[in-house]
Amino acid sequence: MNLADLQAAVGLRTPIRHQLFIDGKFVDAESGETLATLNPHDNSTIADVALAGRADVDKAVDAARRAFPAWSRMAAADRGRILLRLADLIESNAEELARLESLDTGHPIKDSRALDVPRTAACFRYFGGMADKFQGDVVPVEAGFLNYLLREPVGVVGQVVPWNFPLMFTSWKMAPALAAGNTIVIKPAEITPLSTLKIAELMSEAGMPDGVVNVVPGLGSVAGQVLAEHDGVAKIAFTGSTATGRRIVTASAGNLKKVQLELGGKGANIVFEDANLVAAVNGSAWAIFHNQGQACIAGSRLMLHERIADAFLEKFTALAKSIRLGNPLDAATEMGPLTSAQHRDRVLGYVGVAREQGGEVIAGGKAPANPELARGCYVEPTIVRAKGPQDRIAQEEVFGPFVTVLTFKDDAEALAIANGTAYGLGSGLWTANLPRAHRVARDLKAGMVWINSYKRVNPGSPFGGVGQSGYGREMGFDAMREYTQVKSVWVNVDAQIPPWYPRG
Ligand code: NAD
Repeated sequence: MNLADLQAAVGLRTPIRHQLFIDGKFVDAESGETLATLNPHDNSTIADVALAGRADVDKAVDAARRAFPAWSRMAAADRGRILLRLADLIESNAEELARLESLDTGHPIKDSRALDVPRTAACFRYFGGMADKFQGDVVPVEAGFLNYLLREPVGVVGQVVPWNFPLMFTSWKMAPALAAGNTIVIKPAEITPLSTLKIAELMSEAGMPDGVVNVVPGLGSVAGQVLAEHDGVAKIAFTGSTATGRRIVTASAGNLKKVQLELGGKGANIVFEDANLVAAVNGSAWAIFHNQGQACIAGSRLMLHERIADAFLEKFTALAKSIRLGNPLDAATEMGPLTSAQHRDRVLGYVGVAREQGGEVIAGGKAPANPELARGCYVEPTIVRAKGPQDRIAQEEVFGPFVTVLTFKDDAEALAIANGTAYGLGSGLWTANLPRAHRVARDLKAGMVWINSYKRVNPGSPFGGVGQSGYGREMGFDAMREYTQVKSVWVNVDAQIPPWYPRG
């Protein structure tokens, strides 16, 4: 099917953008190279997308450097106004964006409509409003001096995002960076570039000056690596796997650019014996199965108090088996395909790993039998009981609809297991005991903790991890701090300083 026919078939009113976006224009790659982005529902080609190489990244960085002086000196309220207009445009193009995201990633359309698109608009709106409220400071120093602190943008920021929430992560990266006065070169994941390119188009419509935002779809090992190494880039902000995060740190060393890393996770989701089981079962299913488990904060270690484990698992398994798998563009679908065949194979590989180490597969562990889904990257909701907390399925990030079940006998053991991985991103706990809730939240090694809930995010609330889940925070005032640097200015107002060298 050609692109125009495909657009019509999936109900898109506007063209699918498939070129690089540099200096305010959609352009082909210098090399003319493209890479097909696929629909994970049936692995058909959606579009051949321009593939950025070194020359294209250089052009994008040059454009961002040229745009930086005017953008960074523009009145903050005017920068904010453009982001607020963009948020409105995202809302008026909501259905278009939701369909595009579901087509390219496999997100069920009901989630794209209810979560990805509204959260993207909310993020741009939050930081649009923040632009003229984030301010410097005055330090009460010694008499006769005024010392003020400027919060200045860092310059050209390179941003590299993964494929699991491309639309939303584009906003998490772009919005604070732009509000703070930086210019951007962003590289979406090579398998999900479409929604980021659409945002670039809407940016222009919102009045964004040329060169402030540049989008360079391309391979991580080429475009991503060049961006991370680039001497013209002042900061690199990365979301992705811990292994790639390490490469980014090494690549950044040349010009000692600032680095921000949002990496993997192995979220502990702890259900105590006094929890409301109905809420905990439902919330725990959401924690792992939303977006097919492809979430860094997924509650992928389900930790059950031994007294309620059997009762919990009976309900949880029944719920998991009832989840409706199907074409992401069908409004009734509750779980879509994984985003690529390669990733589906990796996830299914962990079923073998689990069995080798004595794990018990309680549900799923395979592709669904439905012939309508046979060409897609589907995996059934999978529940595996591990033998122990050191098993690979209890330590390594699977990043799929695959939950590892562990049991514990008391709070101390729960904490020891929860804190016993290299990661520390999101964690959840379910209990009716208030002191216990806060005590465990305090003692969890994590950047985020949800009590009697899971996976809440809000543009005002800092998002990020500890340990091998990375450093730095997205969202909230913390994100503005990440995208600025402090300049301390000293003014001699009327200081009486005795001469240092009193010779005349
Ligand atoms: P990935 O690390 O393979 O790729 C992420 C991005 O990095 C892609 O755009 C890719 O092209 C690029 N990349 C790859 N190699 C590169 C290199 N050498 N230099 C520069 N860029 C390079 O990760 P993924 O498989 O796309 O995403 C899944 C991972 O992301 C999981 O580990 C998940 O936990 C993590 N993640 C973390 C967060 C968070 O906020 N902490 C959020 C979402 C996903």
